[in-house]
Amino acid sequence: MMRISIRATVLAFVSLLCLWPVVARAQQGSSQPSSRSMDDLNWMEFKQLVPSKIDTVLLTVGTEEAHGFINTGADNTAPIAIAKSIAPDVNALIAPNISYGVTGILAPYPGSIQIPPDVFRAYVRAVLLGLVKNGFRNIIILNGHGPQVGILQDLAEQISLENKVNTLVVNWWILTSDVTKEVFGEDGGHATNNETAMVQAVDPKLVHWELFSGKDMATALPSPADGWSATPFPSTIIEYTEGQGLPKDRSQAKAEEFYNKVVAKVRALVQDTLHKWQMAGFEEP
Ligand SMILES: [Zn+2]
Repeated sequence: MMRISIRATVLAFVSLLCLWPVVARAQQGSSQPSSRSMDDLNWMEFKQLVPSKIDTVLLTVGTEEAHGFINTGADNTAPIAIAKSIAPDVNALIAPNISYGVTGILAPYPGSIQIPPDVFRAYVRAVLLGLVKNGFRNIIILNGHGPQVGILQDLAEQISLENKVNTLVVNWWILTSDVTKEVFGEDGGHATNNETAMVQAVDPKLVHWELFSGKDMATALPSPADGWSATPFPSTIIEYTEGQGLPKDRSQAKAEEFYNKVVAKVRALVQDTLHKWQMAGFEEP
């Protein structure tokens, strides 16, 4: 009896030692959510995670807008991909994307959709308030579209001041204009080298090189000093600096190099901002 029980104890101890890495891994694994997408979580999982384990949310915002020979939803494709790439590193959930926005001068092109600015503002405000009510302390807006930058920055500031939460708006293509110049040697624009590379890195099938006919497809964005404006804008590829930004390098490696550098810069900004909010004591309501 005694011998069996000692043997059993030793066996149990040895098997516990053997199993330890598995147990430890399982415990580690259980602290990871089953998904970082709010769309995929159920309400019971969400309740366990927010805000006790995760109090940061990434809200991606884009629009449906003609983009030369890349997909009309490019302004959604880029921020959604960035959000997926950085969410685990900044311990965030990803809110469902806002796919329709203030498209503006390209809205008359086939497949593009315009949301009036006041409608967009009210809708995004309701989404932001919904995220606040669900317990998120840090709301990071990852925006992919230019004409709604002002509205989003305005709303983010209001929501923060009125609700004592922390908000950050990231306009990825502006934040990374230095990366565009470093990787491509020139400025970017709308549906140019930088956006094409982001889309190509996510899914090369979305870049239709066979439809790209060169500089005839592009027009430089006029400044007020240039003395003209046009709606519909005469081209769906828009250069920010005249003569710069048309895609030249079609290699997948170049697209991925650009994508990875963009993600790294956005990730670093979000991590640094979260860290500084924490240091300043803005983590608690
Ligand atoms: Zn775009």
